[in-house]
Amino acid sequence: MSKILDAFLNENLEALRDQGLYNEIDAVEGANGPIIQVNGKKLINLSSNNYLGLATNEELKQVAKKAIDEYGVGAGAVRTINGTMDLHVKLEEKLAEFKGTEAAISYQSGFNCNMAAISAVMDKNDAILSDQLNHASIIDGCRLSKAKIIAYKHSDMDDLRTKAKEAKESGLYNKIMVITDGVFSMDGDIAKLPEIVEIAKEFDLITYVDDAHGSGVTGKGKGTVKHFGLEKEIDFQIGTLSKAIGVVGGYVAGKKNLIDWLKVRSRPFLFSTAVTPGDVAAITRAVEMIMESTELHDRLWENGDYLKAGLKKLGFEIGASETPITPCIIGDEKLTQQFSKRLVEEGVYAKAIVFPTVPKGTGRVRNMPTAAHTKEMLDDALAIYEKVGRELGVIN
Ligand SMILES: *Cc1c(COP(=O)(O)O)cnc(C)c1O
Repeated sequence: MSKILDAFLNENLEALRDQGLYNEIDAVEGANGPIIQVNGKKLINLSSNNYLGLATNEELKQVAKKAIDEYGVGAGAVRTINGTMDLHVKLEEKLAEFKGTEAAISYQSGFNCNMAAISAVMDKNDAILSDQLNHASIIDGCRLSKAKIIAYKHSDMDDLRTKAKEAKESGLYNKIMVITDGVFSMDGDIAKLPEIVEIAKEFDLITYVDDAHGSGVTGKGKGTVKHFGLEKEIDFQIGTLSKAIGVVGGYVAGKKNLIDWLKVRSRPFLFSTAVTPGDVAAITRAVEMIMESTELHDRLWENGDYLKAGLKKLGFEIGASETPITPCIIGDEKLTQQFSKRLVEEGVYAKAIVFPTVPKGTGRVRNMPTAAHTKEMLDDALAIYEKVGRELGVIN
């Protein structure tokens, strides 16, 4: 190994470990369901993004197995050579129907999607107005495009309007885009899309909504854009197939000319192998299931509301979430870590999220209830929260 690399790695790893910032990763022994096993111990799982419980759905497992039998385990090539199977075409038709758009294009992940889509359209002569709390993949996608990135204060529509006006009137940019998460994953708040659309109209902005945490959850399952009835107003509707949909992948839904352009200009589509047949078949069926019935969606919200009410009643600070995402705000970073560690010891797997992921002094344990949790599991989790909360003086 290069001496310079070796020194760099050792020095920086040691610094992280000293500061308690090195993340040790726990392996889940078995499926990622409402109960998981970690280090031989069964835990109530409040950390997954498997909102509807579809990651372990029996019907989806059968659909994936059947597709593997018929098509094999791999797509064999990138989409543009001969990795596009009829399964991918069917999925993209279904996604367009799901999102109420003319067309859709699928990618290998939601992260990939933001790498692909932003830089296919924006370049160094353009500007992007980006919510301060946007997801890392949006930030990286913006950087890759080389456009001027102008961050606006989180969901602050006055700040967005001021910055949009400045950018427009400067005359410096060919195109200006506004880009936001649909649902913000740290607090569970929803982007103010009606105001964003209004500002976009006023200043000719391209609109881009990454609804990774919204699809399957908001808008009766159809997402945040649908929730506000803005399918015709948002240019790029981005989603992931790995959270509520339960499998893996990402997509852009929009007008046909946009999707046609992405098929010839977005690099992860052109230069990275297509998603596997088993995954694509399971995803297509999962999207159908969400469109056919709101049963899982309804159970998710019921469980989210139940957990929120329970934590609040115990005296915890749960923030202003508008979705099932339920932060339990502890404040101090060290105390938050300790709280999460004690929860795990007592039987609840809920991760601590601290600075720099969230602002200093707002450390929290984030709970992600799903449709697959039973009331009994949530009651058990609440009892453990009560015990640990009292023990550490977070509640009285
Ligand atoms: C999780 C997330 C992604 C990444 O999605 P993957 O499919 O897991 O790569 C992208 N954008 C947002 C807003 C997310 O929350």
